[in-house]
Amino acid sequence: MAELTFSNLTKRFDGAPALDGIDARIEAGEFVALLGPSGCGKTTLLRLAAGFDQPTEGEIRVGGDVVARPGRFVPPEDRNIGIVFQSYALWPHKTVYGNVAYPLEVRRLPKGERDRRVAEALDLTGLRDFADRMPAQLSGGQRQRVALARCLVFEPRAVLLDEPLANLDLALRASMQDVFSMFHRRTGATMLYVTHDQGEALALADRVAVMESGRIRQFAAPEVLYREPADCFVAGFVGDGAVVSAQLVAPSEGHGPRVRVLGQDLTARGRRNDVSHVSIRPENITLSDDAPLRARVTGCTYLGGRFRLALEAEGETLVAFSGQRATPGETLGVTIREPWAFRDPEAEVLMARTMSHA
Ligand code: ATP
Repeated sequence: MAELTFSNLTKRFDGAPALDGIDARIEAGEFVALLGPSGCGKTTLLRLAAGFDQPTEGEIRVGGDVVARPGRFVPPEDRNIGIVFQSYALWPHKTVYGNVAYPLEVRRLPKGERDRRVAEALDLTGLRDFADRMPAQLSGGQRQRVALARCLVFEPRAVLLDEPLANLDLALRASMQDVFSMFHRRTGATMLYVTHDQGEALALADRVAVMESGRIRQFAAPEVLYREPADCFVAGFVGDGAVVSAQLVAPSEGHGPRVRVLGQDLTARGRRNDVSHVSIRPENITLSDDAPLRARVTGCTYLGGRFRLALEAEGETLVAFSGQRATPGETLGVTIREPWAFRDPEAEVLMARTMSHA
């Protein structure tokens, strides 16, 4: 298995950037998810890594080898990279065995070695008893396992997965997530996984690259994205809660900066002293009758075991969890504890522009 490195990777279609100077390194054996809204450039990045398309600028390395840069382009079949598509892309007239063995036939491996590797891949994906079936006789989840086994069998340097669970129903997606995790643990494969489902990305990946408009906004472990988002986009896109503007009251003195949020002074988490916003997760909110910050309940949804409350306070929408049902229209006291404080220069510029147009 090999690391994947993107340096200043740029792709323009008719002059419009789909990828805008991506710098990222995916370590050997790491499971990385590319997460972002539709059109942010996830598939373009995957296609460039696979060799289905050429970058406009920049470089891609697999292990130590440059596979794409201006003046050099290694075609997909010579990159030794496995690809799993949403559509499975199985041969309909070949059995499960035939589909999984195909990459080894192309590589002219002797029959004994081929049989051994196919048996191993079928075992690993739980398909041992399905070797003689045709793809049409399999469920969607089983077909996706065949696609996984087929890409595992030739021991690729990295595996690229393009929304592999998008065609499956919710229950099957959850069980296939376990299959992917197990597959990753047992093979130690370097995996780059495209999804716009944040639950999937946070559950599966060692690290997640959050993309927007052809750029990586933040590349970090799931818990870091959630607890310490780098900017307003990541704070709003990943996880539940609110992003609210904040002013610095006193610089950090070991415990994080004192900030003014919704008219209240409180201690935030955050390393920096230049603060423009806070990310307030539901866990950062405590509800009580007597807290000075008053919030009106605008929605209440049962999540199983607890309720999710949408609250309006000082013109902002907050989200809190509660053990008790609340009635829309009722007023509650809200205490905000240790939200994450950060500075987002782009959001400040946007806000200034909006205000000057108001
Ligand atoms: P989705 O989640 O909807 O699949 P994505 O994040 O994978 O979206 P891309 O498919 O990478 O997004 O597209 C990024 C941008 O590049 C989009 O604005 C898209 O319209 C544009 N784009 C992609 N492929 C082409 C192409 N072949 N020609 C012109 N524009 C393209």
